[in-house]
Amino acid sequence: MATLDSKIPKGPLKDKWTDYKNHIDLVNPANKRNIDVIVVGTGLAGGSASATLAELGYNVKAFAYQDSPRRAHSIAAQGGINAAKNYQGDGDSFYRLFYDTVKGGDYRSREANVYRLAEVSANIIDQCVAQGVPFARDYGGLLDNRSFGGVLVSRTFYAKGQTGQQLLLGAYSAMNRQIARGKIEMFNRHEMLDVVLVDGKARGIIARNLITGEIERHSAHAVVIASGGYGNVYFLSTNAMGSNATAAWKIHKKGAYFANPCYTQIHPTCIPRSGDYQSKLTLMSESLRNDGRIWVPKNMEDVMAIREGRKKPTDLSEEQRDYYLERRYPAFGNLVPRDVASRAAKERCDAGYGVNATGEAVYLDFKSAIERYGKEQAKLQHITNPSAKEVYDLGQAIVEAKYGNLFQMYEKIVDENPYETPMMIYPATHYTMGGVWVDYNLMTTVNGLYCIGEANFSDHGANRLGASALMQGLADGYFVLPYTIGDYLSDDIRTGKIPTDTKEFEEAEKEVTSRLDFFINNNGEHSVDYYHKKLGKIMWNNVGMARNEKGLVEAMSEIKALREDFWKNVKVPGDLNEMNPELEKAGRVADFLELGELFAKDALLREESCGGHFREESVELDGLQKGEAKRNDKDYAFVSAWEYKGEPADAVLHKEELEFNDIELKQRSYK
Ligand SMILES: Cc1cc2nc3c(=O)[nH]c(=O)nc-3n(C[C@H](O)[C@H](O)[C@H](O)COP(=O)(O)OP(=O)(O)OC[C@H]3O[C@@H](n4cnc5c(N)ncnc54)[C@H](O)[C@@H]3O)c2cc1C
Repeated sequence: MATLDSKIPKGPLKDKWTDYKNHIDLVNPANKRNIDVIVVGTGLAGGSASATLAELGYNVKAFAYQDSPRRAHSIAAQGGINAAKNYQGDGDSFYRLFYDTVKGGDYRSREANVYRLAEVSANIIDQCVAQGVPFARDYGGLLDNRSFGGVLVSRTFYAKGQTGQQLLLGAYSAMNRQIARGKIEMFNRHEMLDVVLVDGKARGIIARNLITGEIERHSAHAVVIASGGYGNVYFLSTNAMGSNATAAWKIHKKGAYFANPCYTQIHPTCIPRSGDYQSKLTLMSESLRNDGRIWVPKNMEDVMAIREGRKKPTDLSEEQRDYYLERRYPAFGNLVPRDVASRAAKERCDAGYGVNATGEAVYLDFKSAIERYGKEQAKLQHITNPSAKEVYDLGQAIVEAKYGNLFQMYEKIVDENPYETPMMIYPATHYTMGGVWVDYNLMTTVNGLYCIGEANFSDHGANRLGASALMQGLADGYFVLPYTIGDYLSDDIRTGKIPTDTKEFEEAEKEVTSRLDFFINNNGEHSVDYYHKKLGKIMWNNVGMARNEKGLVEAMSEIKALREDFWKNVKVPGDLNEMNPELEKAGRVADFLELGELFAKDALLREESCGGHFREESVELDGLQKGEAKRNDKDYAFVSAWEYKGEPADAVLHKEELEFNDIELKQRSYK
């Protein structure tokens, strides 16, 4: 059993990264030319890593299952990216970003990694501006900021509601320069289906060409996994339909530990589910909570009248509304962290105050913001005694300029005008904080195998604050991995090319092809989606926000039974040697069916409420509301990892105890 050594450098938090960089081994530019690195994934994490490694001189082979890096799920990111630049002069600093992130993650992130993240956050913005990323600017032309949940400063840089897309175009153009130079070989429409280990080191991958079906062997001196999150284990989530766990899960099965699988972010502002035939949920960006106020009716009669169509939300006066976040958390108001907002929405809906037919919706209302902005504009434009309509129109124009694309998206999906009728929102699966365990170098428990971006576990603890995933992905790819990987590769300067005609590659390829053959030839009764939907239901009902021992034990046995049925009765149409999306999905769902069980086991062993999850029988501590973080031991956070031994149920728990020796985190709950 491998021991978990996080390799955190000694010394005070603020000096660790600088000291580390000053003392690691480097690879000289001439030697970098002799070293190959495989990067699986070209979203923001993998794209930025590929571009930077190639710029440094390494030979990069980059893989993505989409037809272009531009289509990675990162493109969906709406609201923004954090950086401790303190452009607003509102008291921000590296320490505050670090503190907010650790506290926001319910004290379960690794401090040293988070401090480094805060330090490099400022560089990311400079890098992206240099690439031409069109961040929003204020009246004077300076970069603008807005606020996200769980913080008391404005540090979020944004490009309207399309920040991920613009950042991805930046990373993609940096990659393209290297593709043109021949330093990156780009394998679009290729799916990694296994990692190849030689003498305990990651030395390559087996990939399937998704257009021809051909199975390919690729070798390198190190392998980087940047394959994104696994929220689609719930079937319904805000993630892109293709997001999956396969790359992370395959490396887990080859010895890379997996940490905190059950920590899932349940985002508070998603468009509520409309029925059983839906395959996707849509996020309404957290940035909307800068101006939107969340409420449900105070009185049950009004709830019933709204549900039955006898009243509209706009009929209710201010006194008849319960702005429950402002009531419960006056300092943070509507900008509490996501886990707090999600739990509070669920609490109100469970108490019967949900405002749609399913009882699973609360309002996000822009009326106050439209009026506030309208009055301000009227003053600026010297309009004396503006009419209510004038104020409304002026205010709406400002709200539209800030969030127009999100409002348009909402109207298209729900067929209601959110400027006139408050949006309805409900929590949904959004991000996975758990993932592949990595040390300070972002290396997994397998030598030469790295994991970055959403696919790893280290920075967000039990809950991620808004606008911090893009920051982490780009920090890992542009500024952390390119240093830390050199320390490992410096031992490989004389190794030479890694051959692929060896028994290790042959065996891995055989495993991959026999699984694909099985799917095509099984000829069972049920589609892959049939199993995925069933898994999603089990996960949401028993391993979702509210969890209890009985439900988790049931979930584990139901998932096991479903997995067994899948391997008997799944039907995959089409052929091996052609483009076959059903075949791709089959492999991914097979992996979700294993991950789901491990996920439930983690939740079962973890007798605590934290992040977006309530452990129903959990203890309530002084001053904590139901479902708020219960710290383990006194000043410890913990992460845990599992060793895969054939069956997820055999998973072995390890503990990595992280002492809070550098900071004092006394304030546990959000007031
Ligand atoms: C709707 C939405 C809005 C969001 N908004 C924000 C926001 O405003 N701010 C913020 O900070 N975060 C936001 N997030 C979170 C953030 O977008 C993601 O966490 C982040 O983009 C993940 O980046 P990544 O590079 O790790 O993975 P991804 O962008 O998911 O990229 C994964 C890459 O891996 C490849 N891949 C995966 N498996 C394989 C395989 N087996 N073989 C080959 N290639 C593979 C894919 O092709 C892709 O290139 C949002 C998320 C969602 C769902």
